[in-house]
Amino acid sequence: NNIVAIVGRPNVGKSTFFNRLIQRRDAIVDSVSGVTRDRNYGKSEWNGKEFSVIDTGGYIKGSDDVFEGEIRRQVELAIDEADAIIFVVDVEEGITPMDEEVAKLLRKVTKPVLLAVNKVDNGKRLEDAYEFYNLGLGEFYPIAGMNGSGTGELLDKLVEVLPELPEVNEDEEALPRFTVVGRPNAGKSSFINALIGEDRFVVTDIAGTTRDAIDTKYNRFGFEFNLVDTAGIRRKAKVKEDLEFYSVMRSVRAIEHSDVCILMIDATRGFESQDQNIFWLAEKNRKGIVILVNKWDLVEKDSMTTKMYEQKIREEIAPFTDVPIIFTSALTKQRLLKALEAAVEVYENRKQRIATSKLNDFILPIIENMPPPAIKGKYVKIKYCMQLPTPTPQFVLFANLPQYVKDPYKRFLENKIRENFNFTGVPIDIYIRQK
Ligand code: GDP
Repeated sequence: NNIVAIVGRPNVGKSTFFNRLIQRRDAIVDSVSGVTRDRNYGKSEWNGKEFSVIDTGGYIKGSDDVFEGEIRRQVELAIDEADAIIFVVDVEEGITPMDEEVAKLLRKVTKPVLLAVNKVDNGKRLEDAYEFYNLGLGEFYPIAGMNGSGTGELLDKLVEVLPELPEVNEDEEALPRFTVVGRPNAGKSSFINALIGEDRFVVTDIAGTTRDAIDTKYNRFGFEFNLVDTAGIRRKAKVKEDLEFYSVMRSVRAIEHSDVCILMIDATRGFESQDQNIFWLAEKNRKGIVILVNKWDLVEKDSMTTKMYEQKIREEIAPFTDVPIIFTSALTKQRLLKALEAAVEVYENRKQRIATSKLNDFILPIIENMPPPAIKGKYVKIKYCMQLPTPTPQFVLFANLPQYVKDPYKRFLENKIRENFNFTGVPIDIYIRQK
């Protein structure tokens, strides 16, 4: 997917605009989990073109008094990482010094930059908006994030200027991609180095497939896959800070391109909000997930430690808790192969297709026993279930009154499917359709 970043100073209405962009699509994606953790990343679609959107402002805390430097760094990062940028300004406030600062950075950019002048909800304000020509960014798009006016014109232009995505090399695409993600210093490079140190398993190194991420073609357990190192991305960058926004921004592309995300957390720090955001990025993109709790050698242990630690992580990632959690040490090389093995298993789980007859033989008696609750005296009858031929597991159930089947019941069915078939590490979708 192309990545579109929304930039601008605080309180110009970036998040209202962002929510408007991702609305439709998100309602579908989150219908099962019912949870949206990362409110700053989402997918959008216009005229049949899909793209990812990141609201850079959402990551700035206490947004009224942020440092100018903070915003500048966010814009620089967005310029580096995104394929197009939407710069939002506020007609009520007019051009502020910070707007000028941002515009100065954006004028140098060769990527598409669209200037959205927000809060233009009457003719007077449209006149006022002309002032923004002075930012030197060319044409502007008057919008009103509150009621959505002007958004259509802006999006028409956006999808027109988004770059065509490069053709993917067939062979490379065919190989499973396991991407190691996580906050800086979790031990991602150490993990990969420890693995590829045993170089008889390494087939080739291909640099730069996912921007600066390093792909290593790897062969183990009779299984060939690409191991993708995202740690290098940060190294060349101007910004070194360990801030949430940076790790998310840098992980998006790699996650979207992977089959299984190996999320590495630092055992000495625990599962923090950054880790959670990366987890939800992977979940939202319906990727396979394995969690590694690295630097386990540094944790003082008694008989309860592992269980308790695991329990805490599962609470953080609920309701999608059916995920392998493995305690590793990249330093002492503990359980590194087990981690890979888990990734291979998750990959296989994600690819599996349950035969329709097998699925129905299992699920229909369960539904019979525990049907969806009747609503207003009307009974829901589910007749038939099948798995769709999609890259990530999706099940569709056919019912007489699909709108009466609510999320808790879907979650109940999901749990039953997970208990009976092995979908560990794999997000699944359940849809109910009219028979
Ligand atoms: P990255 O930024 O995620 O790639 O992290 P690095 O692989 O560069 O590791 C960051 C630091 O943590 C380095 O000093 C590593 O030596 C150290 N480190 C990585 N894995 C482990 C581990 O399992 N145990 C211990 N004790 N240190 C580790």
